[in-house]
Amino acid sequence: MIVIGAGAAGSTAAFHIANAGNNVTLLEKNENGLIKPCGGGMAAAVQQWFPFDLKPVVDEVINRVDFSWCLRDQVIAELPGSSPFWIVRREKLDKFLTDNAVKAGAELISPFCVETLHKSGEDWVVGSKEGKHLKSRAVIIANGSDSPWPKAFGLGPKNQHHAFTTSVRLEGRGNLPKGTTRFEFGLVHHGFAWAFPLSKGVNIGIGTFIGQHASDSEAVLEQLLPSLGFSAKEGIRQEALLRVWNGHHRLNGDGIIAIGDAASLCDPFLAEGIRPALLSGYEAACSINNWLTGDNKDLNSYSKNMKEKWGDSMAWGRRISQAFYRFPKVGYQLGIKRPTAPQRIAQILSGEMGYGDIATRVIKRLLFQRS
Ligand SMILES: Cc1cc2nc3c(=O)[nH]c(=O)nc-3n(C[C@H](O)[C@H](O)[C@H](O)COP(=O)(O)OP(=O)(O)OC[C@H]3O[C@@H](n4cnc5c(N)ncnc54)[C@H](O)[C@@H]3O)c2cc1C
Repeated sequence: MIVIGAGAAGSTAAFHIANAGNNVTLLEKNENGLIKPCGGGMAAAVQQWFPFDLKPVVDEVINRVDFSWCLRDQVIAELPGSSPFWIVRREKLDKFLTDNAVKAGAELISPFCVETLHKSGEDWVVGSKEGKHLKSRAVIIANGSDSPWPKAFGLGPKNQHHAFTTSVRLEGRGNLPKGTTRFEFGLVHHGFAWAFPLSKGVNIGIGTFIGQHASDSEAVLEQLLPSLGFSAKEGIRQEALLRVWNGHHRLNGDGIIAIGDAASLCDPFLAEGIRPALLSGYEAACSINNWLTGDNKDLNSYSKNMKEKWGDSMAWGRRISQAFYRFPKVGYQLGIKRPTAPQRIAQILSGEMGYGDIATRVIKRLLFQRS
């Protein structure tokens, strides 16, 4: 088995394949330590997919969320203890997962930059920049939002949809109180900005979710950074396109599976991509392990499970995103400022609730108000 990309998704898949006693080779183009453009916020509920403790890589546990509109009109929400939210440094989380995959028996080859992928008879053949070739019965595509192969092999959406992001990693905590994240909605056209605390640092980011253009991130940062106690020009900006969920599609073919960002799984409303990366890595490994033992005759269970466990909620998430970011001021006043909204967001992020549950409640409320 070959996994292309040792990010959150690929390392999770490699761990579960190796842990079941199967051979797996994990190919990663970058050596350790690069800062990944990611806020690093994830629900503690992701622990359910690992037999080892993830807490060693958690920088901060969040118990309060501050929302604002143009740095004013604040809404403060205490998160219920039942839906904990963690902040991680992505480079640390990914390395931890890769190390656990290697401990479980996976082979890691890094640096190995995959350039070509094709089928030859029964096997998939992966080629590197340096002209090395590896063969395998099955391949998992886990190399993130830039991956060309899902589209080439008909996996995931034909029309890939992207969020535009800018992120900054800052040293020092500014004025962000312990255990608190910030979400700012009014400054960003068609999106939002966030500040997630790390031990001795902060991840700040901006995401634009609808339209063809990124917002003017410099103008946003010049207002946002001073409000967080930093100087306006501090930090190195990283820009990235993030592939987000865009409809129900098959995510597997004959001996091939796409997971994580490569499979366009990221939440189109809140840019939550770590949880679906870990879930899809886990589900892909289960499907492959059952295929190898002969319990499954193909890998279709993967696409089916991802639709039920993630896609059905994202279909509502996409509708909510399109309505909210088109009329964000109305969305902020009627959505975020509802007394129950912050708790609902926490429940969405923790997986306790899906976007479908929220939509059903809103529809019921409208019907009830009309009658
Ligand atoms: C600015 C920003 C902030 C975000 N904040 C959050 C957040 O707070 N919470 C959250 O849940 N999600 C967040 N996301 C989304 C989240 O980062 C992604 O959804 C997540 O990284 C997906 O993981 P992945 O393993 O699929 O892909 P990646 O993390 O992109 O991993 C892909 C891996 O493949 C490797 N690779 C790439 N090409 C090749 C190749 N050709 N050969 C070999 N290896 C290759 C890469 O080096 C990388 O290690 C954010 C995204 C952005 C851009």
